[in-house]
This record gives sequence, C-alpha cells and structure tokens, in this order.
Amino acid sequence: MIRRCKIAIRGTVQGIGFRPFVYKLAHEKKLNGYVLNTSTGVDIEVEGESPQIDLFIEAVRSNRIPLARIEDMRLSALEIRKDQGFVIRESVSKAEKLTSIPPDIGICEDCLKELQDPADRRYRYPFINCTNCGPRYTIIEDIPYDRPSTSMRSFRMCSDCTREYTDPFNRRFHAQPNACPVCGPRVMLCGKDRKALPAEDPIASAVDLIEKGHILAVKGLGGFHLAADAENSLAVKRLRERKHREEKPLALMAYDMDSIRRFAHASPEEEALLTFPSRPIVILRKLVPNRISPEVSPRNRNFGVMLPYTPLHYLLLEGGLTALVMTSGNASREPICIDNDDAFERLGGIADFFLVHNRDIYLRADDSIVRRIDLGNRMIRHARGYAPSPVYLKADFPQILACGPETANTVCLTKGKHAFISQHIGDLTNLESLRSFEQTISHLKRIFDIEPALVAYDLHPDYLSTRYALKVENVKKIGIQHHHAHIASCMAEHGIEGPVIGLAFDG
Ligand SMILES: [Zn+2]
Ligand SMILES: [Zn+2]
Repeated sequence: MIRRCKIAIRGTVQGIGFRPFVYKLAHEKKLNGYVLNTSTGVDIEVEGESPQIDLFIEAVRSNRIPLARIEDMRLSALEIRKDQGFVIRESVSKAEKLTSIPPDIGICEDCLKELQDPADRRYRYPFINCTNCGPRYTIIEDIPYDRPSTSMRSFRMCSDCTREYTDPFNRRFHAQPNACPVCGPRVMLCGKDRKALPAEDPIASAVDLIEKGHILAVKGLGGFHLAADAENSLAVKRLRERKHREEKPLALMAYDMDSIRRFAHASPEEEALLTFPSRPIVILRKLVPNRISPEVSPRNRNFGVMLPYTPLHYLLLEGGLTALVMTSGNASREPICIDNDDAFERLGGIADFFLVHNRDIYLRADDSIVRRIDLGNRMIRHARGYAPSPVYLKADFPQILACGPETANTVCLTKGKHAFISQHIGDLTNLESLRSFEQTISHLKRIFDIEPALVAYDLHPDYLSTRYALKVENVKKIGIQHHHAHIASCMAEHGIEGPVIGLAFDG
C-alpha cells in the first residue's frame, strides 16, 4: 500500500549532516518527497510503500549522527501527492532560516583518513572538514548559516570543491567550510616579528621547534593555544613563568587513547567522553610514574587531557610526541586570543613562534572541560563543542537575556522553547573579558535573531554583568537572587517543574 507521511522533527539537526543522511536514506528506501530545514529542526515528507516508510522512520529515529539530538518527532498522515523523486528543499522564508547553530565539531573518521592518505587530494591539508565535522559556531558571523555568512566567505571554492558542495550524495554537500589546498585557508609559521619563516612544510617545522623546547602560539578552532612539549620540564616551566600561571594545571593533548594511557588512567566512560565529537578536556587520574613533566600539574592527582580535534592538531602530534601542553592562548585572566594581530601583540611575551592561519575566528570558545563522576558527566567549563546547543524548555518563553554572574560568566538568551547558553566567558573584571561578554551578547542576538523583551540580572549591585543589564534601555528588567538562579537553571536543564527544595553549593 502506498501512503504519505509527514515527520516533523524538533532538535539539533541542522549543520551536522542530517539532511544528506535523510536524503540518502529516502533514496535507499525508494521513497519520494522532500526534507526542509525549519526554524526548530527539519520537516520531512515521504511517500511510498508503507513498510518502507516504517523502516525509514525507524532509521531516522535511531540515526547515529554524533551531534544530532532529536527532542521531538511528530508523525502525521497526508494525502498522496505522487511526487517524483526525493529532494532537499531550500528554506524560503527568513523564519525558516533561523536555524539552531551547531557547535564546532571535532574531525570525523572519514576526514582523518583523507588527511593521512597520500593519494587523497587533501593529504596533510590542515583544514579538512565535511558535513559531519569542522568549524561552525566560531566562524558564523550572521544568519542564515551559509558560506557568505561565515569567515569562509573570502575563499572561493575551486571546481572540485564546488562539485562536492553541490552533490547531494557527497559527504561535503552544503558543507559551508568546505576547502582544499587549492582554494582554502593556509597556515603560516612566523617569528615574533610577524614575518613568515621560510618553511616548505610550516607544520613540520613547527613540530621541530616544539621538540627543541620552544613555545608556540598555535591558532586553532576557537582561539589560540600555547603549545609546548609536555615531557620537557624546562619548556613547561618557562611557559608557566611567562604566562604568570603558578600552580593551575595545564591542559594536555595526546594523539590517541594509547598515548593517553601512557600517562593517565581512562575508564570506558572517560574514553567515550574523550572521543565524543565535542572533544572536551577530560579530567583523568595520573598514572604513576609517568614521563610528563611534573610542572604540568604540580601537587595534583589529575591531568586535564583532550584528543586532537582539528586536522592541524593531528599533524602536530603524528610525529611521536607523547603529549603537547595545549593551554589557552592568553596571559592569566585575560580571554583567549582569536585574532592574528591580537595574538602577536598579547602573546609576544610568551610564545617564541607563531603557527597562524588565515581563516578568521569570529567568536572565541575555550576548550570545554568535563569530569566523569558516579552520577554521570559533570560540565566544568561549557565552551567549544557544546556552545551554543540549547537547553529545551517545556514552554514558550518571551525573548530573555540573562546576564549571568561576574566570575566564570556565561550568558543565556531564550527564544521560543530554546535557551541558548553561551560559551564560558570568564572573569568580567578583566577589561578584555568584559568586551568579550558584550561581543558574545550581540553576536548571539544576531545569529539567533533575538531582541530581548526582558533582561535578567544578578541582584548583586556591583557585578559588572549587573551594571551592564541596568544600562540596557527600553526593556523590562528583573533582578534574580544568585542562588535562586542556580536552582532555576538546574530545574530547566532537567525539565523539572513545580515546587522544589534546592541546595546550591556555591563558592
Ligand atoms: Zn568530516
Ligand atoms: Zn578546493
């Protein structure tokens, strides 16, 4: 029996390869119809043999796309329309283009294979990406999420890349940051004087310098890192001194799980976290003894460890370094550098050399930090790979800006049933961070098309976030007691309604 069915999906399903997945699946099941991005997710209509439709729906529901999050899936029967074929329909109205912007995604296995395949046209190309992986949130300047609204706009795709980009069966169909060595961004190795060093392979030369004990500023996905050989105590000590960071642990990056197991314990749950496409820093128990410099995490039982998440990171680590110190590219308490000029200026006193590239980062995002505890995963720093994924609310809310506290600041903006939480912004008493706070608010307002009708602020009158809120004009403002906010956000995250007794363990 032939029937037609509409599947309305709400959740994080855009910009992560969901439509190409649906497209291929529909062709596989010989179904006609279309898939379309909507303001809250995607709509699919399929027509064909009834059992095939059942199989299709089940496959959509149980998709294994790493970052896809289906919050709600509604099915309804429709009249048969006798469509010919299955198509990806372009969003037409602006409302439909107000997509939920996905977070940045660590390099996928397919792209990694290409990176390491001498026969591939992208062999050793440090900006490989596809619809399943690559930069998103940090390169988006405006909506809709199309190439001209990203920092990839200055790179015109070559004919090979265009062919991939326009082929619905290709892994790079509508992959906005698609690039190759012919047409895409490039890396450059520079000295402190900003001049490029003559290097045939800048990345290999950078590794060479790190192995000799130098400190490098490396431009990544959400900002700069300061990189050093984690086994070289002199280098790590120098990095600490120059960064004015006395005791706090420095993050490590290692090539794969085998390398990590040479200096830290990782349970299967911790391994799952480390290898998740968000690629957070995971707090791991040290293996004793180990060859990592004691300067990395002094008087501490743990290391903060992550796996590489960009092709560039893989190229830096493939030469055999056990681990790199990869700490945020900033002086203590300042926000992480994202701009080449800014990095030369602010990191000039710390780094000996600079490995930069010409793909701009619009929004800074530090590495996220997660700890595995008995009850599950505890997010310590919500940033790259997670922001700006929304918390799904139970009811429609007016558009609200919540300004957050003064230290360890994040902000939140709501729209409909979504609460978008920003990346970790940091300590607002630092002028650069305060600027970053203001930039993040205006950026989120722009990319999600939000004009807050209400501004929520902490009741503490001296918080810089509170002062910011009180200066916003022509909106209603609500002061919220700090610990009340903690409990309320916890309730929203877990979808709890009604009266509760909340305990906020703070400070
Ligand atoms: Zn990929
Ligand atoms: Zn190309």
